[in-house]
Amino acid sequence: MKYSKKKFLINAITIFPQAFEGLLDISIIGSARKKGIWDLQITDIKDFVDKSNTIDDKPYGGGPGMILKAEVLQNAYNQALSTIEESTKKYQKIMLTPRGKRLNQDIVKELSKSEGLIVVCGRYEGVDQRFIDYNELREISVGDYVLSGGEPAAVTLIDAIIRLLPNVLGNPSSLLEESFNNDLIEYLQYTKPRVWKNLKVPEVLLSGDHKKIKDWRLENSIAFNKKKKDR
Ligand code: SAM
Repeated sequence: MKYSKKKFLINAITIFPQAFEGLLDISIIGSARKKGIWDLQITDIKDFVDKSNTIDDKPYGGGPGMILKAEVLQNAYNQALSTIEESTKKYQKIMLTPRGKRLNQDIVKELSKSEGLIVVCGRYEGVDQRFIDYNELREISVGDYVLSGGEPAAVTLIDAIIRLLPNVLGNPSSLLEESFNNDLIEYLQYTKPRVWKNLKVPEVLLSGDHKKIKDWRLENSIAFNKKKKDR
């Protein structure tokens, strides 16, 4: 099948390439990859050890843990850049960090409109900040908590982006109704049976009255949105 848009390419820079196996190979994301809508290349930071045969060192100023070295990361990043042919400018270059701008659906939508991504995954105590500043990387966080590495954050980001690409979802109208579209959380969903553990499906959903169902769903979404704002 031919797609009008060029393949969406992602290059993940990581010390754990194996972290990208599994989730991105299954379901709609996996089949979109098989169809050639997107692809992932991995740049293994360990291939860029420096003269002292290391990728990290102790933090200046003291403190626990190790910091990934700027030069090692730069060499890995240059390698990733060289795999992108023409318009590198249209690629988004992202550093995953708890300090970054918190990811939301608007950012995901924006990123899905680029031509591809370079995503850098930190580990240990993090990375030398000069690497981020020198390359003007966009710092993104997946939430206000600390993961042990950028890889789970990268997989989350990639999954959220890929499902928005054209021809990925079997039924694109799912995107119109789902949470965060128009800033609303999706309404509650139910399926068979009508009664489960004495709990009933809301009557209106069984009425067959499309107008009433639509109104109920909208009210339900608005109510949830209000609750979400309060939490
Ligand atoms: N020392 C850092 C701090 O206190 O902010 C935490 C480093 S964390 C253990 C190692 C790496 O995991 C980070 O460099 C980053 O790439 C990634 N990471 C951790 N939490 C993240 C989050 N909430 N969002 C995005 N990336 C995260």
